[in-house]
Amino acid sequence: MSRPFEGSYLGDGSKITDDTQLECGICWWVYDPALGDEDRQIAPGTAFRLLPDTWSCPNCAADKSKFMVIGSAGPQANDTVQNAANAYRRAALAMKGMPIYNPTLAVEAVGFRSIEGREAGIMLTPWFMNLTVLPSAEDQKVWVKGGSVRLAFPSGAYDFMVSELPDFGLVATCPLFSQMADFTDHEAAQLAALSAANALFEAEEPEPAPTVSRRQLLGG
Ligand code: FE
Repeated sequence: MSRPFEGSYLGDGSKITDDTQLECGICWWVYDPALGDEDRQIAPGTAFRLLPDTWSCPNCAADKSKFMVIGSAGPQANDTVQNAANAYRRAALAMKGMPIYNPTLAVEAVGFRSIEGREAGIMLTPWFMNLTVLPSAEDQKVWVKGGSVRLAFPSGAYDFMVSELPDFGLVATCPLFSQMADFTDHEAAQLAALSAANALFEAEEPEPAPTVSRRQLLGG
C-alpha cells in the first residue's frame, strides 16, 4: 500500500478542522464546508470528515483520499493568486450545468508571475480563459470597477477590463477564449494557458542588426 502524500486528507487528517477547505489533488476543485455540495445533497456546514466515503470530487470524480488542505500542494501560486483561484472555484459552483460550462475542465491559475507588484497570468476556468492581472496596492486605489486599464508586459501593452470578482476584489481581465467547448480535456487547456502565459512574459525579439551595411550591399 502506498503512503498518502504529505498534506493529503489521509496523511494530514489531524490538521483538518471542521471548517477547513480542501482541494482536489487532481483538478483543484475546492470543497468548502460552508457551501457543502448541493449536487449530492451535502448540506452547507458539513465538515469534510463527515462526507460519506462514497463521496467523490464533483468535477473529476477523484475519491476523498485525493483531497488536500489548500495550499499544501498544487501549483506554486502565492496566497493572492490562490485566493483569486478559489473565488473562481466558488463561481464555478454556480456555473455548473450551464451550456457554456465544460465539465472536463477545472479552475486553475496558470503561469502567474509577479510584475510591478501585480500578479499576472492565465486564469483557466471551465467557461473561459483570460489573461488576468491581480492589482498591486497602488492599483487598488486607481482601478475602477467597469473601467479599463492598459498594462505593459515584456511582449507588449494590452487593454484590460476591470471587474469585481466576488469574494476577492478587483481583477483586470483580457479574454483569450470566451468559450471553452473545444477543449476536450483539462491538460489541453492547461497547455494552451501555459503557452499564452509564456508568450505574455516573453520580450519581443529585437530586430536583428544588419550584418552588412547598405553601402557594402551596394558594393560602395
Ligand atoms: Fe477533482
